[in-house]
Amino acid sequence: MVAFTEEVARKIALQERDPWIEVEHDLVCLQHTMVNVALFGPPNAGDRGWVLIDAGLRGSAPRIFHAARRRFGEHARPSAIILTHGHFDHVGSLLHLAEFWDVPVYAHPLEMPYLTGRSAYPPPDPLVGGGAMSLLSPLYSRGPIDISARLQPLPSNHCVPGMLGWQWIHTPGHTPGHVSLFRNRDRTLIAGDAFVTTKQESMIAALLQPEHVHRPPAYYTIDWQSAHRSIIELTMLDPETVLAGHGKPMRGQVLRDQLQQLARGFSRHSVPKFGRYSKSPARTDENGVVWVPPPQLDAGKVLAGVALGAIAIAGMVLAVRAARRSLPTLQHTRNLAVSP
Ligand SMILES: [Zn+2]
Ligand SMILES: [Zn+2]
Repeated sequence: MVAFTEEVARKIALQERDPWIEVEHDLVCLQHTMVNVALFGPPNAGDRGWVLIDAGLRGSAPRIFHAARRRFGEHARPSAIILTHGHFDHVGSLLHLAEFWDVPVYAHPLEMPYLTGRSAYPPPDPLVGGGAMSLLSPLYSRGPIDISARLQPLPSNHCVPGMLGWQWIHTPGHTPGHVSLFRNRDRTLIAGDAFVTTKQESMIAALLQPEHVHRPPAYYTIDWQSAHRSIIELTMLDPETVLAGHGKPMRGQVLRDQLQQLARGFSRHSVPKFGRYSKSPARTDENGVVWVPPPQLDAGKVLAGVALGAIAIAGMVLAVRAARRSLPTLQHTRNLAVSP
């Protein structure tokens, strides 16, 4: 626990020093509570000169506003918000941000039922993934949110509004209308949750984020065959750099090797052996959820799992608080180091 606490303190200190991670000269990643949002556009891009990809958890808006002001200019609004998908951890601050900036929001048509108040997502499967994040998944919001007034379908020619040289690729499986964004010129990929670069089901991995290509978050993935096909399609793009919805950006041969490994061994190692969606996917259409397979265990056992997950979370929260208490010392040391 001591080593874990020190490591968390170091990560938090680093995050507070750097508001974003530079992925490319015109693409930065903002990490907030285990979820990434991407800001696309060159520094000082000015008003309507940049694009936000995904909108983080509820409560992320101040951090996103601050980063946008710092990177693009005092009153710089984006020209668009692009959604990879509509899960609660990617749209939590969307209503607030879209209204403040008066900006259109783009998503795939098959994602729209969950963004226009028509349908909640299929229930998550807390029994897959084997970590606290999975066990707690029944407590996460399934939506829907309603952003109908600002929502538009992504253009059918696969261009991405405000992002010249990028194309959107339909990568279903994690959700029905999930998309990834790709720039052919330098083979940069914004993967969303089609695959991620940390073991998102584990609370410890999600906090510490050791870099490793990993399947989409299992508790929320409703169609494993489609998820596999999407990963094969992204692997064939041979990406040089990837920014996923969870985890640190990765690049180069390590990324490609791990992605190929994931695609090759997906059926054997990544599709859960047991779970609600492991044999049959949820069925959905343009109006939302049509049918979901029955749960694999009774509600009592699931609730017991949730309780265990809650205990694990409480332990983590205490550890993070202990880590935060040690931050003034770290901050003081850093200030001394940069003082003339
Ligand atoms: Zn997701
Ligand atoms: Zn996610």
